[in-house]
Amino acid sequence: MEYELTIQQTPTRKEKPDYNDLSFGKHFTDHMFVMDYNEENGWFDARIIPYEPLLMDPSSLVFHYGQAVFEGMKAYNSNDEVLLFRPEKNFNRLNISNERMNIPAVDPDFLVESLKKLIHIDRDWIPTSEGQSLYIRPFIIATEPALSVKPSANYKLMIILSPVGAYYSNSDQMSPVSIYVEDEYVRSVKGGVGFTKTAGNYAASLKAQTKASELGYDQVLWLDAIEKKYIEEVGSMNIFFKVNGEIITPALNGSILDGITRDSVIELLRYWGYNVQERRVSMDEIEQAYRDGILEEVFGTGTAAVISPVGTLQWKDEELVVNHNETGDVSLALYETISGIQTGEKEDNLGWTVPL
Ligand code: PMP
Repeated sequence: MEYELTIQQTPTRKEKPDYNDLSFGKHFTDHMFVMDYNEENGWFDARIIPYEPLLMDPSSLVFHYGQAVFEGMKAYNSNDEVLLFRPEKNFNRLNISNERMNIPAVDPDFLVESLKKLIHIDRDWIPTSEGQSLYIRPFIIATEPALSVKPSANYKLMIILSPVGAYYSNSDQMSPVSIYVEDEYVRSVKGGVGFTKTAGNYAASLKAQTKASELGYDQVLWLDAIEKKYIEEVGSMNIFFKVNGEIITPALNGSILDGITRDSVIELLRYWGYNVQERRVSMDEIEQAYRDGILEEVFGTGTAAVISPVGTLQWKDEELVVNHNETGDVSLALYETISGIQTGEKEDNLGWTVPL
């Protein structure tokens, strides 16, 4: 399918925010990408236009039944070029979410090319300091005005861009976080939508995150919905354990998101010669490893923070302290290597980056 892309640039560029004080997802660039869907034309009218608010009918299906999917990725300012990190994977994952949420598939190659053009137009928004990047948010919403519960006949796909600072402040980037193992609320069930990036997953996670924050923890560790025994994810990151020199991460079982950082970490660790096991792993097993003194590192992986070391796990009235609440060697090596590849400072032996 051939699509055309029209470009309408704004005559008035916005003032840039203070780049020394960028909070996450608060500022947006001058332009956005939009594409519509209807039954007659499929996806059509791809356009880059000035960033502006939407005018929508209050009955639009997305407001009522939440038929919405999104992605999250970044562009990095390298020395003399702009780099994307495995962008095709994000658009392929968007189609996995689309399929489950009854939203028509998109063309990943066309979207990568359109995204490159959008970033090129707004390239002076990409921050240049260490740890900063341009956050990219593609999303699709159901726009048919109707109150019946059914797949929408119309959709809007948009890509917006936001300059962001380091996820944690520089000094805190690799400071271990404290985790509350959640055994009341669950994030996801097999047969449900946990393997997708659909809006409702994140709405459903808020209550547990609020509870963990109130109890004084940084993030929630999610357990399986049936037995509340097997480990799934940490906050909105995938999770890894280093036990006695080997790496264990929960297998993709239908209720876990197939993280692109997760995939990259597994590939890199295997390239470095580690034995990486993707399998079911229970809190009991991790507690036993802790008691045996072989729980060496725990870390989360995701686009926002890349690697987030876990310092403590609160479970059943006990605090398991990992690696003396210090950042482990593997966590640090992964962070330095992946963020180095993303920003073009380290050689990209695995062919992950895509220049604009
Ligand atoms: N799990 C969930 C629930 C997430 O929202 C994310 C962020 N996309 C991740 C894991 C990490 O995925 P990625 O490495 O692709 O950012």
